[in-house]
Amino acid sequence: AHLDRIAAVDGPVHAFLHVDPEGALAQAEASDARRAAGTSTSALDGVPVAVKDVLATKGLPTTCGSKILEGWVPPYDATVVTRLREAGLPILGKTNMDEFAMGSSTEHSAYGPTRNPWDLDRIPGGSGGGSAAAVAAFEAPLAIGTDTGGSIRQPGAVTGTVGVKPTYGAVSRYGLVALANSLDQAGPVTRTVLDAALLQQVIGGHDPRDSTSTTEVLADPVAAARRGASGDLSGVRVGVVTELGGEGYQAGVRQRFSESVDLLVGAGAEVVEVSCPSFEHALAAYYLILPAEASSNLARFDAMRYGLRVTPADTATGGAPSAEDVMRATRDAGFGDEVKRRIVLGTYALSSGYYDAYYGQAQKVRTLIARDFAAAFEQVDVLVSPTAPTTAFRLGEKLDDPLAMYLNDLATIPANLAGLPGVSVPAGLAPEDGLPVGFQILAPALADDRCYRVGAALE
Ligand code: GLN
Repeated sequence: AHLDRIAAVDGPVHAFLHVDPEGALAQAEASDARRAAGTSTSALDGVPVAVKDVLATKGLPTTCGSKILEGWVPPYDATVVTRLREAGLPILGKTNMDEFAMGSSTEHSAYGPTRNPWDLDRIPGGSGGGSAAAVAAFEAPLAIGTDTGGSIRQPGAVTGTVGVKPTYGAVSRYGLVALANSLDQAGPVTRTVLDAALLQQVIGGHDPRDSTSTTEVLADPVAAARRGASGDLSGVRVGVVTELGGEGYQAGVRQRFSESVDLLVGAGAEVVEVSCPSFEHALAAYYLILPAEASSNLARFDAMRYGLRVTPADTATGGAPSAEDVMRATRDAGFGDEVKRRIVLGTYALSSGYYDAYYGQAQKVRTLIARDFAAAFEQVDVLVSPTAPTTAFRLGEKLDDPLAMYLNDLATIPANLAGLPGVSVPAGLAPEDGLPVGFQILAPALADDRCYRVGAALE
């Protein structure tokens, strides 16, 4: 049924870069056999899933939305993918994304944008717009995204889906093509909080192949979601972040946000306002740390090891092209403008003369943000804010203005800088444009269950 749905609607939506009907059907049949024999071990056995194209899938193309990886078929599976397969979830295909996960609209994909199923003239968020659109358009019941600065939560917000960024280290990064190693985290994109919890149970847990993977066992997300669904939040202390949700946030976003806060009060939660003054600098710090890490990670695309190789006809010397000539021509043709912009920014921030002034300062801000969170979580159990400042904007609206695009990440970035879990749940439609609004819940590291509990109480 999902393959039929993809065939019917994915033309205009373009959530998928690659669909694998044969593989998905074979996995579904194996699942049917297990269910008939009573040997299924997972609640999600047989439930199809779509996977963001930044996760390595053995035998299936993995492009990261970039021309430089066009045609690359990984010889191995990311741990997340291994766990999906082991639990019996048929993989429908790979979803569209901003190139190397840089963006908030999926317009930076080298393979054309994904469109928001709520309004095809609007963006589905980014960088994981494909995963969110696939779930919103009923092309997939579940999807996997990755969140470095909001790429699971912001697409969730603008497509009316649930997006979860787990605690840093709670889900293995093995086989996740790195954007920024210290920030990246894979997580669920679903239609309900309980679905997300079930998916988290499948993909999470320690992995010896990822040195940053935590050995702590997190509280059961499914139990937390079920507890929240009872609608009782008595004893839960909720902090509304003063710095997130005021100026610059669309009126309808603020309205739906405060209505959701009222629902939490109605469920028995105690709500207070909490100030996190350093959040003001989070965006600036992020856009130094991320490009610094990304510029270093992307050095591996050297025309020798993976994907595209362009051999220039003309060389500076007039002789045969050198390795450097090939590398330059390949990176010039293979990377898009946003990727090049961040490589330049990151290389500059890391250069010896400017390292202390930019990268060093940004790392200090990162510490201040972690301290703000620590102080806030002495007073409250969870923090809440709108997930994104606006509803889905129109395609093309911010494409020529990188700063306007970056401002979308205002509310999501602090959690990545501090390694904390964050969930975006639908909070209704903005009255002025009828488009989905997202409500964000943040918790201390390893307390992802609190996000699931509060999120489920809002459904
Ligand atoms: N929009 C953010 C950026 O462009 C987030 C990216 C992400 O989470 N992958 O960096």
